[in-house]
Amino acid sequence: MEKDTMARRLIPREYKSDIKPIWCPGCGDFAVLNAITKALAFLELPREQAALITGIGCSSRIAAYTNLYGFHGLHGRALALAAGLKAARKELTVLVAGGDGDGLSIGGNHFIHACRRNMDLTYVMMDNEVYGMTKGQASPTTAADWSQSKLTPQGSGIRPLQPASLALTAGATFIARGFTGDPNGLAKILVEAIRHPGFAFVQALSPCPTFRPEQMEWKRQVRGFELEPTSDLSAAARRIQTDDGMSTGIIFRSDYPVFQPGSGTTDDVAAGIAAIESELRV
Ligand code: SF4
Ligand code: MG
Repeated sequence: MEKDTMARRLIPREYKSDIKPIWCPGCGDFAVLNAITKALAFLELPREQAALITGIGCSSRIAAYTNLYGFHGLHGRALALAAGLKAARKELTVLVAGGDGDGLSIGGNHFIHACRRNMDLTYVMMDNEVYGMTKGQASPTTAADWSQSKLTPQGSGIRPLQPASLALTAGATFIARGFTGDPNGLAKILVEAIRHPGFAFVQALSPCPTFRPEQMEWKRQVRGFELEPTSDLSAAARRIQTDDGMSTGIIFRSDYPVFQPGSGTTDDVAAGIAAIESELRV
């Protein structure tokens, strides 16, 4: 990759690759791509100093649509790969992205341990409360009574997970919720998430018009930037538990020590590979 260091400031579009996204028209994930590239441009981050690691799913295609270093990984394993990369290359800004199904179902265990490990990673979960790529099944964040899937015509009957609540319980040190209908607000959150030294979790409410057309109403339901960050665990827990999931902003931020194995020497490449292998055995 040609080096951006010492070069002129890039505009958001210059963080995008030439590959045209194949997301459906109106998919919220377009706005996440825009918000990420806006945040990177604002931070004046050279492209060769950042990497975007993803899992599997519609949203995980995002790695190919940027021209950062990237890895479109295995289902649910993006955080494991990112932890290994960060262990080996601590100077890189490592972003991780994926969907609610990828991150909370098969990747749920990795999510919990990434939160408590508190490595300096930024994780964007594009939450549309559905498995989009596999044609619309209930995901871990789908409401129990959602009955539009052929697999669960009477609803799944299973309570949804609350991603922010899980992140808080597991020890994430930065938790925020953004909305793709407010890409500038989402970009601002991402700037703060990337700046945060530690594990930053950003839930991006990202409608799937194809399988959840009713989510197009979110633009009337989501409330912009109501949340102010607190470092008080109990206050954050109360806020998340009493919230309807439709408010946006930074919910929680604390300065718990960052975990960074090794010191960036060649030994750490081996440590990084060992970390990936250990994670993949979980
Ligand atoms: Fe987006 Fe849904 Fe289409 Fe997937 S199926 S690209 S999540 S609108
Ligand atoms: Mg999804």
